[in-house]
Amino acid sequence: MLKDRSLLCDSVRIGEGIYEAGVEGLTVTNPATSACLGNVPNLGGTETELAIRHARKAQADWAAQPAKARAEVLQRWFVLIVENADDLARIITLEQGKPLKEAKGEVLYGASYVEWYAEEARRIYGETIPATSRDKRLLVIRQPVGVVAAITPWNFPNAMITRKVAPALAAGCAIIVKPAEQTPFSALALATLAERAGVPPGLFTVITGDARRIGAAMTSSPFVRKLSFTGSTDVGKLLMRQCADTVKKISLELGGNAPFIVFDDADVEAAVEGAVVAKFRNTGQTCVCANRIYVQSGVHDAFVAALVKRMRTMKVGDGQAGDTDLGPLIDVSAIDKVQAHISDAIANGARIELGGTHHSLGGTFFQPTVLTGVHHEMRIAREETFGPVAPVFRFDTEEEVITLANDSEYGLAAYFFTRDLARSWRVGERLEYGMVGINTGLISTAEAPFGGIKQSGLGREGSRLGLDEYLEAKYLCVGGI
Ligand code: ADP
Repeated sequence: MLKDRSLLCDSVRIGEGIYEAGVEGLTVTNPATSACLGNVPNLGGTETELAIRHARKAQADWAAQPAKARAEVLQRWFVLIVENADDLARIITLEQGKPLKEAKGEVLYGASYVEWYAEEARRIYGETIPATSRDKRLLVIRQPVGVVAAITPWNFPNAMITRKVAPALAAGCAIIVKPAEQTPFSALALATLAERAGVPPGLFTVITGDARRIGAAMTSSPFVRKLSFTGSTDVGKLLMRQCADTVKKISLELGGNAPFIVFDDADVEAAVEGAVVAKFRNTGQTCVCANRIYVQSGVHDAFVAALVKRMRTMKVGDGQAGDTDLGPLIDVSAIDKVQAHISDAIANGARIELGGTHHSLGGTFFQPTVLTGVHHEMRIAREETFGPVAPVFRFDTEEEVITLANDSEYGLAAYFFTRDLARSWRVGERLEYGMVGINTGLISTAEAPFGGIKQSGLGREGSRLGLDEYLEAKYLCVGGI
């Protein structure tokens, strides 16, 4: 199906060498139909080391170029991504499952990071510091960290890559990306467009294959100076340990368990819309998805009724169909986890208000589900569900809900709805999360810092802070003046 698409690339380019998938290649399937989409090369440690060698060479020249020259290449990449948005979206939907309209949204969102960092590349300013003696001058310059390795997940196969590659290239780094095994075609298509935009060979390499071996080669190499990872907390911890021996800079964007709070004084209709966006985008498979919905007693029943009514209008289906709202889950283990969370909740007293089981379409399609009577002794309160299940908790006071919301080892995103200005400040400041949406379920944008605290990770992506992750500060002390 993909074969006729101009952007379909099933080979990996390392420097001047091309690696074909061959019979040993990794198979990529469409989660909506289980159909095979193609194969990609199954590469490992040796090829990763080769990519690192090419990256080192390319990086030295790239870093020496004026910021404006780097910015122009990024700007061309941005334009090509936007021009090819329909093809890129189609690739995302085929290998990841999300509805086409969401896939297109992801491509444009991903492209916005390329545009933003093309602009920011020219604003990598240093500083001067008042000296402590007459004969000295003190200043700080900011230089690229060098060769960067990135490992990315399947839920945003395009944007999780641009969010790392764009700031890395803007800063003057080289970057090697290992995409998730489920979604390599989106990554390879982005690399193809980068090449067309004039990104020099070796500067941005996508390498597909064995996660452990590629990860081990990336983390053990003394030439890789930074690792940027988005994925599960367990793998993030493992990679952090692996990076310790060579003391790499690291950015980690890990799991979340986002609370979504609706106070009695909220606009309930707006809160329902916010919950739908924050909970069901990508069929509940985003790290900032609302995982726990707390509703104050005064509006609890009205909110649940409106949410159920709204959810009934959402269409489950193959993401390629124009009117689909919810695509399939990524694989069978995702379905098993969702089902296990629901069963555990029911066994502990929760009630199903909507859905609750597999969808009649079969495969990895699941019914949008709303549960009430949920409490903190249930698995669903502690773990990230990553599926289309909205568990609703009832609460009475602001103090109580802040304690409940912060009762998590994660600290990525939180949301709350209120029309009380003073409460907005109080709650916004007390929630222990890296990002807080107030009266909105959609918070992420290239201009703002994305990232978490606690076990949700380290560092930020997007905004000017996202560029700092790829820069080192160098202090120059000039004497004898
Ligand atoms: P998920 O559960 O969402 O698939 P993972 O953390 O397992 O999240 O995967 C995110 C990325 O990490 C993927 O690209 C995957 O291939 C990669 N990955 C998984 N295990 C390892 C590992 N041991 N070393 C390096 N990368 C890994």
